[in-house]
Amino acid sequence: MNKKILYLTFDCEIWSKNKNLSEDFYFPTITIANFFENKKIPITLFISLSQKFPQINNYYETLDRLLKKLKSYKYISIQPHLHFYNLPIKGINTKSDTMKNYTSSELSKMINWAIKFLKKYDYHPTTFRPAGYITNKNYYNILKNHNLQSSNLTEDKSHKEYQLSTFQNLNRRLRSIQSIITPEIIPANRVHKEFQKSLSEILVSNFHSFSVYHSTTLSWHPCSLIKIFNNNIRDKIIKKQEESYEWKQMKKFIQKYKNKYSFKNF
Ligand SMILES: [Zn+2]
Repeated sequence: MNKKILYLTFDCEIWSKNKNLSEDFYFPTITIANFFENKKIPITLFISLSQKFPQINNYYETLDRLLKKLKSYKYISIQPHLHFYNLPIKGINTKSDTMKNYTSSELSKMINWAIKFLKKYDYHPTTFRPAGYITNKNYYNILKNHNLQSSNLTEDKSHKEYQLSTFQNLNRRLRSIQSIITPEIIPANRVHKEFQKSLSEILVSNFHSFSVYHSTTLSWHPCSLIKIFNNNIRDKIIKKQEESYEWKQMKKFIQKYKNKYSFKNF
């Protein structure tokens, strides 16, 4: 039997409940990159090109350091993740974080800016991930115009970004929405089980950089799948620790099941 193809993606960004550049963004991103580089497993980092929040000092200096450091990694693909708030783009009032509130021409300009930003470091984006997976009606056309593919390769081939904000009726839609089946939200063995049950041969799973050192699932994720699948785990989660429960689940997933998948990156 052919192995399922698994795209492991990581959104690398500052967390609203911590807002600490090194704890949420820089160090966890390096931790993730080192772990997968050592295992020779290809992954994709969707790096936030925006600091997301006001009063974050040195975001672009840190981002610069990170992008230069990651150049030497062979298994890590770097792609743009855009939170639109406060993006330093001339002529656009970037006071909203979500794509919905921008016109098509503004959006096109912003995606173009993101591509150019990464090209300065000799990274060549092939995909894109919008904040909260929220899109607008011209988004897919704009992607096409910039030669980018959607960051979610769903089984129905529509390649629609998974929309967090409209997410309802979790159980029924679990199998069609790949990106939420992740060790960030459910235990490693359950992730594997769901992937095997999935009708799709191509899977995309996402994890956030800020979850490496913080147990974040219960406090921020609207789905809180842990509650559904295993109530006991709730008690075991410690709010803040050296390495989070979620990241340990990711490592366990790789340790136990890596031979069952064929890994790809964007
Ligand atoms: Zn994000």
